[in-house]
Amino acid sequence: MNYNKKTVKDIDVAGKKVLLRCDFNVPQDKATGAITDDKRIVAALPTIQYLLEQNAAVIACSHLGKPKGEWKQSLTLAPVAERLSQLLGREVIFAKDIVGEDAQAKAAALQPGQIMLLENLRFDKGEEKNDPIFAKKLADLAEIYVSDAFGTVHRAHASTAGVAAYLPAVSGFLIGKELDIMGKALDDPKRPFVAVLGGAKVSDKINVINNLLEKADTIIIGGGMSYTFAKANGHTIGKSLLEEDKLDYAKDMMQKAKDKGVNFLLPCDNLCAVEFSKDAQPVAVGEDIPADLMGMDIGEKTIEAFSAAVKGAGTVVWNGPMGVFEFPAFAEGTKAMAKALAESGAITIVGGGDSAAAVEQLGYADKMTHISTGGGASLEFLEGKELPGVACLLDK
Ligand code: ADP
Ligand code: MG
Repeated sequence: MNYNKKTVKDIDVAGKKVLLRCDFNVPQDKATGAITDDKRIVAALPTIQYLLEQNAAVIACSHLGKPKGEWKQSLTLAPVAERLSQLLGREVIFAKDIVGEDAQAKAAALQPGQIMLLENLRFDKGEEKNDPIFAKKLADLAEIYVSDAFGTVHRAHASTAGVAAYLPAVSGFLIGKELDIMGKALDDPKRPFVAVLGGAKVSDKINVINNLLEKADTIIIGGGMSYTFAKANGHTIGKSLLEEDKLDYAKDMMQKAKDKGVNFLLPCDNLCAVEFSKDAQPVAVGEDIPADLMGMDIGEKTIEAFSAAVKGAGTVVWNGPMGVFEFPAFAEGTKAMAKALAESGAITIVGGGDSAAAVEQLGYADKMTHISTGGGASLEFLEGKELPGVACLLDK
């Protein structure tokens, strides 16, 4: 996959109408509809401000929630237009439809240096189906397409990929940064390249492990998925998470690591509990877990070993918490890894929804080189999959 794509800096937008795909999929209060966290709108500001400063006429668009092609008043983007207007300190013209009469008239009248927002893209069935007619209508509103919603680049929707068939397509600063940092780490990493993988299930991470085994010098496995590997190595794992049908896969991966000379590190001790509960008493055990216990976090010796492996790294990619970090008593392993990354001097990249949340919750967010904001998109990136929303952009 080629990550070397043109950005807004590589194209002349002055005086042009620019269709800007944003990620304004903000959380809202169920009762009042009020935006409870405007982080995503704030994140979109640099690209918007750049385009306005360059004297482009900006036609912003986004999805919100899951209206599934139906018009749902509770999922209107009107509150987003209002918040965006407050943040920009200027008017944001709001269209009452997406590609209908109102949007067309407002887009046609839009002047350089002005911004408007279309209604929720997913109110139209054509969006998620990547219907070429809908994509063409979106494209007809503008002269240039700028994509900046990294969270949806793994989807081939009309606004994330389809429109690029009709307009010159480049990335905004958010996607640009993801491609720069994550793309570089995967294509040409500063070595040693260490991948730290965790989270609940092996089955969620099969393709991530496969892909990183081709690239990394060291792979560290922690979290719930480590017990399937431990069992495959002949250890007892008590009541810990197990994916019986992934035992052979786990063996294959460890063999592949051996053949390729990749260090493959698993926990050598564990922090356990009698039940999956926030109030459970932590019990420290070694590599084998007794029948009545379940693994909830990596143990102290493991923390030392994993931290040491991260210490001399040139690049660290981390996906998946080391334990049930949502419970304070079992957050130490995840916290220690966050600290190890922060102190490593390496290029540090965190990907995955829960991993990003963990790093933020534990207070290490500003110590990382990059926290990928994509969730599912970041995972598919780490899997080395072709991302339709990236592939459709112009090559540099
Ligand atoms: P991401 O969203 O970053 O890709 P995952 O969704 O794969 O991460 O994994 C996150 C979840 O894994 C967290 O909710 C965490 O509680 C859970 N988890 C980690 N270790 C364990 C464990 N030992 N037992 C059960 N769940 C675990
Ligand atoms: Mg998750």
